[in-house]
Amino acid sequence: MKISFYGAAREVTGSCFCVETDGKKILIDCGLQQGSNNGFGQSFPFHPGEIDYVIITHAHIDHSGRLPLLVKNGFKGSIFATEPTCKLLDIMLRDSAHIQELEALWASRKKRRAGAAATEPLYTMEDALRVFPLLVPCRYGENIEIDRAVSFLFTDAGHLLGSAYVEMWLKEDNLNGGLIEKKIVFSGDIGTPGHPIIREPEFVDEADIVIMESTYGDRSHAHSFDTVTELAKVIEHILVKGGNVVCPSFAIGRTQDLLYHIREIKERGLVKSVPDFPVYLDSPLAKAATKLYSEELTDYLNEETLALIESGVQPLSFEGLNIVETSEDSKRLNDDKTPKVIISSSGMCDAGRIRHHLKHNLWRQECAVVFTGFQALGTLGRIIVDGVESSVSLFGEEIAVRCQIHNFRSMSSHADKGELLNWIKSFKKKPECVFVVHGEEETCKGFALKLIEEDYKAIAPKYTSIYDLETFEPDFEGRDLIKRSDLDRTERRDSPVFQRLMLAGMRLVEVISRNKGGPNKDLAKFADQIDSLSNKWDK
Ligand SMILES: [Zn+2]
Ligand SMILES: [Zn+2]
Repeated sequence: MKISFYGAAREVTGSCFCVETDGKKILIDCGLQQGSNNGFGQSFPFHPGEIDYVIITHAHIDHSGRLPLLVKNGFKGSIFATEPTCKLLDIMLRDSAHIQELEALWASRKKRRAGAAATEPLYTMEDALRVFPLLVPCRYGENIEIDRAVSFLFTDAGHLLGSAYVEMWLKEDNLNGGLIEKKIVFSGDIGTPGHPIIREPEFVDEADIVIMESTYGDRSHAHSFDTVTELAKVIEHILVKGGNVVCPSFAIGRTQDLLYHIREIKERGLVKSVPDFPVYLDSPLAKAATKLYSEELTDYLNEETLALIESGVQPLSFEGLNIVETSEDSKRLNDDKTPKVIISSSGMCDAGRIRHHLKHNLWRQECAVVFTGFQALGTLGRIIVDGVESSVSLFGEEIAVRCQIHNFRSMSSHADKGELLNWIKSFKKKPECVFVVHGEEETCKGFALKLIEEDYKAIAPKYTSIYDLETFEPDFEGRDLIKRSDLDRTERRDSPVFQRLMLAGMRLVEVISRNKGGPNKDLAKFADQIDSLSNKWDK
């Protein structure tokens, strides 16, 4: 029984873990890397054809965005997710494929002009469409036996509509003819109490092993902060000055939260000087997600939101809300001088229409950019939030950062340090081991140390590390992340042939770890063969 950490290990994005028991391999999450990464691009450090099943905790792209790549590279099994997650994935993955195709097209044009070969997209719409027939929608609490040795259920994580912890039971015969049984819990992303629209995060009673996120494992959200009042103040202040309020926002989750808050601001008349201010929702993906929230997925909303609907209020709609459809209309927004609120994605500003709005508003002192979600290291969003650069590069142009920058951490849908500790302490008995993931390097290490202080066995695993689930000893220590400064010098996306080579290399590492404990003579022969191969290629 083993676990491998193939992503979100000492970093926030790219969630991907693999559990191995009784000869079966189950992948939990298959997320896209965003911003800075581990230096391996989006390549998988394993062979997708070897995976038997996939379980997805929630629809955010850093937990699901590499599913089309997995299918493209040979995965053929079932993909389990809650019903809302399956519905949200349908729009998320199409959008992601569209972005991948567009980016490759732009890159190819540039390369062709330089006389180089075209760039292949990471995956295409066709690859994304091949994911959907594999999806198996599940209910919360439904016990699913996927194999003689593996069963699991989803529990509400209160982080996003459909988000879940995975409670999983594993069995394996041991060498002495006995049976090993373990319960392992994957936290996915843990929600924060009192969040609008969605239900409260639940707690889990017991587990032998816990894999838990630590995004905000080093800080507390200001709970006394009144989001609605403060947001209204920013909107009033900026619109009166004649500027725009630009909100980079994750299309699923944060956009709906913003719409919910702005509806309340308008209902309560909190922006006194311009009560009927215009709001533009400029993201086809956010529009489709909002429609799902308002129509097909209402069964999953919290009581407060359901009560609004019953009283005839549309929680995510209001007077003055404009939906921008085409990219021409999106660009035209920049010529319209009326002060307005613009909500657009992507949330970390690394792709999508938001980049145009930043180009036209960042340099204007009378404008504001309001961030509402976590900004991963290396993304444009993080550079702006950190405020260390006086200008940023957009579409080949240097754009000065002169507008106001606000970061509404209170809108986060991630538990903070205290809430993460409450969550782990709610287990009736201390788990045998807690693996801390989904946090920046220092945060993961720091949170694991905090748990050790509290008498837990806690580990912050490295990328590609493999741990035995009985002894918690590493079969493979994993690798250190490549520093951002080194990364900048390398090409971000690996060529398909290089990706194949990486896969082959990673498989070799796996084969090595499987041979642990074998006869010395065989191990020595294996080592000689690898050495001779390396000598040949180490130019
Ligand atoms: Zn998430
Ligand atoms: Zn996440």
